[in-house]
Amino acid sequence: MAHDSDRPAAGHSHGCDHDCHTCGAAPLAGLAACPYCRCAYQGVAPGVTCPGCTAINARGRTVCAQCNGSLTRACVFCAFATPLDQPQCARCHEPFAGAEERKRARDAGRAPSTNTDPTGANIFNSLNSILKG
Ligand SMILES: [Zn+2]
Ligand SMILES: [Zn+2]
Ligand SMILES: [Zn+2]
Repeated sequence: MAHDSDRPAAGHSHGCDHDCHTCGAAPLAGLAACPYCRCAYQGVAPGVTCPGCTAINARGRTVCAQCNGSLTRACVFCAFATPLDQPQCARCHEPFAGAEERKRARDAGRAPSTNTDPTGANIFNSLNSILKG
């Protein structure tokens, strides 16, 4: 009689969710993956990968849990700090891709509202420098 045929074959009954099950390192609160072996923590939604130390932070964080580096970027249009995993500004919804070029193009294409020079000397000067350049 093979009375042990219904036993589970696995040696480990279940993985511990408070240690990295791959390398055994204690997890860092606020990260979504082990910073040593890159294994994802169970039940933690991954968010921004830190540009400084490459740690994968949990979703919603704005500061790296490992190196304290910023995980946001400032919008060039409204200066609002948006998480790096967002493709666009969370406040004014300007896409970050090419934002600086668009900003520059807008500044160049339309006269700044602060320019109240009635003689237009600034425009003349910039035209002059373009002609010279
Ligand atoms: Zn690990
Ligand atoms: Zn970091
Ligand atoms: Zn913005």
